[in-house]
Amino acid sequence: MIIQLTNNISSNALHVLEKKLNDYAYKANLVNTKSEKYLVCIGKTPIDIRVFGVLEGVDDIFRIKDDYKLVSRQWKLNHSVITLNNGAKIGNGHFQIMAGPCSIESESQIESIVQHLVENNVKIMRGGVFKPRTSPYSFRGLGIEGLKLFYAHCKANNIAIITEVMEMAQIEEMFPFVDIFQVGARNSQNYNLLEALGEIDKPILLKRGISGTIEDLLYSAEYIFSKGNEQLMLCERGIRTYETAYRNTFDINAIVMLKDKTHLPVIADPSHGIGIRKYVPQIALASKIAGADGVIFEIHPRPEEAKSDAQQTLSFAESENLILKLNKLIINQY
Ligand code: PEP
Ligand code: MN
Repeated sequence: MIIQLTNNISSNALHVLEKKLNDYAYKANLVNTKSEKYLVCIGKTPIDIRVFGVLEGVDDIFRIKDDYKLVSRQWKLNHSVITLNNGAKIGNGHFQIMAGPCSIESESQIESIVQHLVENNVKIMRGGVFKPRTSPYSFRGLGIEGLKLFYAHCKANNIAIITEVMEMAQIEEMFPFVDIFQVGARNSQNYNLLEALGEIDKPILLKRGISGTIEDLLYSAEYIFSKGNEQLMLCERGIRTYETAYRNTFDINAIVMLKDKTHLPVIADPSHGIGIRKYVPQIALASKIAGADGVIFEIHPRPEEAKSDAQQTLSFAESENLILKLNKLIINQY
């Protein structure tokens, strides 16, 4: 059960409410987001919600059967929308394309990609500066100096930045230069990092774990929301299965199911999802048909020279072709 509180609830009224919940053996978790106050109540005793509905400071009450609560679709009529500082909206009918290199490599690479995005009216650029690589000897990113360069060029062109944060200690130094913090597949269940991101006022894109279930992903999102950050998106990026013909098995089912289970925007990452350049466009288009609220894919001025994930990175010509097709594809709500 979620109890939506009035914003001006007095500490006394809150105390009375918590005491009453306690009497029914419910544990109450207070959640303060930027604009709302909630009590997420966990318990098993059957209760008549009218008992709580009449109490001072209660705005609304929602019964939620799902074990995850705040991210559940069961209490929101509409899907959530995220609005970035550059005006780009994601979710509830707003579809966004996010494109950029796997890794930020140099100023000239940033410049040419920014130009490609401007020409194609793409509002969000991806690019890793702290890279989680399978081998410690691979290129690990340009770090904070790379992020500052990335920021300078995007800011000048009104393009928002999405980039991965790998650990709690990086959040503060990255904060001024980032529009969306990405949590990578390897950190999908790093609950300390998730809670720390729940305490900041900036959108988060949370990727599904390499072997994570849909439920694992929803619980991870609940960790963020329950600390107060509701500007949250989920990302399907493929999971590990017995299939070895491609890098990961992109789970299109997850998009359909997540859209039903949560009000949060759902983004598809076809680049990591299949890991083979020539198939990326089809998976991106299929994701939009399945109901995704956006796609994120890797591009590079010379894909074969990319320092990471070259094999799945699109050229500008391939990217432009995909963007045209994505924009032409009009999906009505199912
Ligand atoms: C990435 O998007 O750069 C990345 C490393 O993806 P994932 O965490 O999904 O592997
Ligand atoms: Mn990559």
